[in-house]
Amino acid sequence: MRHPRTAEILDIGVVGSGPAGLGILHEAKQHGLRAIAIDKGPVAAALLQHPTYMHWFSTTDKLELAGFPLLAEDKNPTRREYLKYCQAFVRYFGLEVVTYHEVTRIIPLDGLFRVEAKDMYGRGRVWRARQVVVATGFYDTPRPLGVPGEDLPKVSHCFTEPHFYADQDMLVVGAGSSAAEVALELYRYGARVTVAMRGDRFETKYWIEPDIENRIREGAIVCYRSVEVVAIRPDEVVLRDASGKEIVIANDFVLAMTGYEPDTSLLDAAGAVVDPATGKPVLTECLESTVPGLYVAGTLCAGCESNVVFVENSREHGRLIVGNVLERMGWPDT
Ligand SMILES: Cc1cc2nc3c(=O)[nH]c(=O)nc-3n(C[C@H](O)[C@H](O)[C@H](O)COP(=O)(O)OP(=O)(O)OC[C@H]3O[C@@H](n4cnc5c(N)ncnc54)[C@H](O)[C@@H]3O)c2cc1C
Repeated sequence: MRHPRTAEILDIGVVGSGPAGLGILHEAKQHGLRAIAIDKGPVAAALLQHPTYMHWFSTTDKLELAGFPLLAEDKNPTRREYLKYCQAFVRYFGLEVVTYHEVTRIIPLDGLFRVEAKDMYGRGRVWRARQVVVATGFYDTPRPLGVPGEDLPKVSHCFTEPHFYADQDMLVVGAGSSAAEVALELYRYGARVTVAMRGDRFETKYWIEPDIENRIREGAIVCYRSVEVVAIRPDEVVLRDASGKEIVIANDFVLAMTGYEPDTSLLDAAGAVVDPATGKPVLTECLESTVPGLYVAGTLCAGCESNVVFVENSREHGRLIVGNVLERMGWPDT
């Protein structure tokens, strides 16, 4: 270790151990900084909410962190391979992740930060850190439909496996890649699938659209365009078209693939400025928020634009943030 430090104060406390949080930990360790990540679940917990058998659209080389090799069967790794990779990354580099602790507050206090968390039994734990990086992603707060019946047990914002839904009447809400992929997989596993979208066309990755449009054209999947979901009931769903006409369809399950909203509550409470219109935290080029020493990394930087910052293009965040932290700490060799 090149620099003196006190045992009880962290150089960097990282909230979240997704790919972004792990990148920060690794970069900090390379520079002899004492850093830990605190995650409310296991390492890279958010990836567990992705479909169980999904393949990443990115190729392995674009998902590797710090050049650590990602070995996969195919050029596009599966979710399971990437989860294993993240866990191996932590073990190999000896990174410190405190799992199953949810950070509830970050309080700037006398030039330091007090990071408060609770475990799954509600027991509190506190860290003090010179800098904090919030890398909490945004997969915990799905965008609600805001309609009566949304809280019924048949409604979900998360799709894991098609086997739950074989031979069921399914409504998939949305027009993005996730909605189209879920609709196609459900259809191929024997569900009767209807898609409802607000607009009149899918906005998917280019290779998905022909598949879904052809299935709709041949009648294998039913699609209602320019409609709103207005009510969800135990055995049916009510849609409304642009003319105000209501359409009632038989339904067993609703999968609302309507995207996510960033949860900036930790930043808000710490006094960092977040643009209310876009959900984007106001950040410097080095990803420091308006509270000195409080940084944001990973997909949370993009606010509501969930498809703008992802693993591929946020792998530099660790280098940017740690470089800035070293400057703040006045280290001569930065
Ligand atoms: C279906 C799907 C396919 C995708 N495919 C690709 C792809 O091919 N290529 C690509 O680059 N990207 C892809 N993405 C996007 C990618 O998953 C995200 O960009 C990436 O996970 C963001 O990483 P992150 O570290 O910023 O956040 P996350 O991975 O979301 O990690 C955030 C972490 O913070 C933790 N956390 C949240 N709140 C708290 C709290 N209060 N206290 C403690 N911990 C907390 C969570 O448990 C989680 O572990 C895909 C996304 C989806 C949904």
